[in-house]
Amino acid sequence: PRLANQIAAGEVVERPASVLKELLENSLDAGANELEIELEAGGIKLLKVRDNGRGIDEDDLPLALARHATSKIYTLDDLEGVATLGFRGEALASISSVARLELVTSVEDSGKGWRVVAEGRDMTPRVSPAPHPRGTSVIVRDLFFNTPARRKFLRTERTEYGHLEGLFRRLALSRPDVAFTLKHNSKVVHRLRPAVDQASQEQRLKQLMPSGFIDSALYLDMEATGLRLWGWVGLPNQARAQADQQYFFVNGRSIRDRLVAHAIRQAYQDVLFHGRHPVFVLHLELDPHVVDVNVHPTKHEVRFRDGRLVHDFLFRSLHRALADTRAGQESN
Ligand code: ADP
Ligand code: MG
Repeated sequence: PRLANQIAAGEVVERPASVLKELLENSLDAGANELEIELEAGGIKLLKVRDNGRGIDEDDLPLALARHATSKIYTLDDLEGVATLGFRGEALASISSVARLELVTSVEDSGKGWRVVAEGRDMTPRVSPAPHPRGTSVIVRDLFFNTPARRKFLRTERTEYGHLEGLFRRLALSRPDVAFTLKHNSKVVHRLRPAVDQASQEQRLKQLMPSGFIDSALYLDMEATGLRLWGWVGLPNQARAQADQQYFFVNGRSIRDRLVAHAIRQAYQDVLFHGRHPVFVLHLELDPHVVDVNVHPTKHEVRFRDGRLVHDFLFRSLHRALADTRAGQESN
């Protein structure tokens, strides 16, 4: 609990997409490589995530729904080197205080599992035996049913669904190794197989990125001084695309960062003489101890131990890749 106080307590549950984010991050933290998402009415009526992760042990179940009861951080050193996505220990508690939450889980291949139901504030979660394949399903119904003021603040189903799909896209791009299914109002919207190589990753990008992106995008993979940058950058014929088609992941976590944005823009401007709305899907990998991901719990900010090193590496890698491509185009 003392440690929890050192972590900024953010407002987790803002809209259906924030619920989905927390659930998916929990599933990924639990080692799942298959995720099924079901939504109804923009996630307001129903939002369900089923995973094949390690499940939750019977003894840990009451704790999972308690505030500040994360199982993921034990020491301040963990906090510094945090590699997991969620680490505040309050998402499930917060969600269950503003929705009807049901969690079914099993740690065994036998299919023997447990169900916990929690609804609204001040409710003691009820635990009973229930079958479930190894893994966890979390079902969230009637978001904000007991907080009409917040419910009123929600936009149309369509808008909420837009946020949900945007989040889905980001997570599906961040973890190509994980299989994802997304259903909305009983219809399958996306079914993504795990991508193991560049070709199968590009299949996934074809589904998730604007049409034409992958056909003319440039693939790069560069490594230096403990940093690796890989992914796809769009060339200028896609420059009319929107600024929100920019995906940048640090150790598999989606971030938006001024230093990163600056390095990328500079590289584009330097080579192509303009840096307007480049489209990209880029992954930066580095030692988790040299980056803080917990600057703000709900925003996607990071702080690099050595910002200059990262900036220079990004700029140089992209610069080289873009310059090579331009040279190739000009000699054709
Ligand atoms: P945090 O993720 O910050 O630890 P949460 O409230 O999101 O806090 O989850 C509380 C705990 O419940 C987690 O620490 C984890 O032990 C357990 N948990 C939640 N979701 C899952 C899941 N899908 N699979 C396995 N364990 C889970
Ligand atoms: Mg969590």
